Amino acid sequence: MKIHLIRSPEYESENLNEVHQLLSSYNGPLEFEMNGYEFDKDEFYFLQYALYPFHNFKFKSWSKKTNFIKGIGYPLSWEELFSLCSYFRKKFNINKNDFVFLLTYRVNSLNWFSHCNEERNGFIHAADWDKYYVQAHHKYPVAYQVIENVLQNLMKIETIDGPGEFVHFYSMGCINDFCLDKRQVILKLRTADICSDCFKRILKMKIRPDLIDQVLQILEGLRAQFLFKKGINRIAGPFSIVIDENFKLLIPQLGNKELILEPLFSTLYILLLKYPEGIRLKDLSDHNNELKNIYKKMNPNLSKTQIDKSIDELTKPISGSFSQKKSKINKKITTQLGETISRHFQITGKRGEPFRISLSPDNTDIRF
Ligand SMILES: [Zn+2]
Repeated sequence: MKIHLIRSPEYESENLNEVHQLLSSYNGPLEFEMNGYEFDKDEFYFLQYALYPFHNFKFKSWSKKTNFIKGIGYPLSWEELFSLCSYFRKKFNINKNDFVFLLTYRVNSLNWFSHCNEERNGFIHAADWDKYYVQAHHKYPVAYQVIENVLQNLMKIETIDGPGEFVHFYSMGCINDFCLDKRQVILKLRTADICSDCFKRILKMKIRPDLIDQVLQILEGLRAQFLFKKGINRIAGPFSIVIDENFKLLIPQLGNKELILEPLFSTLYILLLKYPEGIRLKDLSDHNNELKNIYKKMNPNLSKTQIDKSIDELTKPISGSFSQKKSKINKKITTQLGETISRHFQITGKRGEPFRISLSPDNTDIRF
């Protein structure tokens, strides 16, 4: 089952990419795809900013209109948002079992944060989240709501008359809490929970167990990354690292957060992970072939000459290239993980002694 993520024109493709990356790092039957398709503002008149502030609803609203409030922009009706999903579905020949979610900054007529209809078309409102927390990207609550809407659709919790018995109108930290306030969505994100009544419903609706596993993994991952970003992660270790089939460096304790290094830096880092006892600078060139193999796998398009040049330079003890790269890698790790956690991942060692990464070999999982 595919989940297609699309955007309205004002929502940046970089952010679409961030949300997509966050959701696709867990394997399972849900496959996430993104498409930066640019909707034509002439075809969809309501996407034109020039209409501001005199926007009238062309479609009848799903329910009553929200009054226009200058400052938050004119609201769109749900039909207008869903019409973009329907258009996308037709144009790209999307399977009717797949979901299409529109990520948008535009306010909708009922001011809902997200909604998915029976045709599996949905919208997620991506603006204003930063009012309710600091230092974290809006991608966490937005990704959470994608998962929430998929699950709710599969659980069939909406009835013709509106929300059914499985929607909780009081906040209990379950994925099916009906949230009036964005803070309540943040609560769900922090609990990453599904209550026991909702679990019974999941079993009754015979939702695939591997899909539920994937949903739980994603929720747990979003929770861990969100708390880490907020700086309230109290994990003291032990930490582990996974090098996956695509040479990504992932940290499971931080919700599979990816440590991002340039390919040459990654190559060196992976080599040191493979030799937990460490490698002396003068012995580094003994590993030239191994380094070249890893680097080649990571960059299949590079020529042999380019690969040889980069690796030979890196391992030459007198060139200073290694120590430069070592300090650049450590700096990048600190920037991405913060002072405290980065200590577990840094390359340590002085000249003449072995350089190593202090992660235990039991906690290093190399999958290629
Ligand atoms: Zn529940």
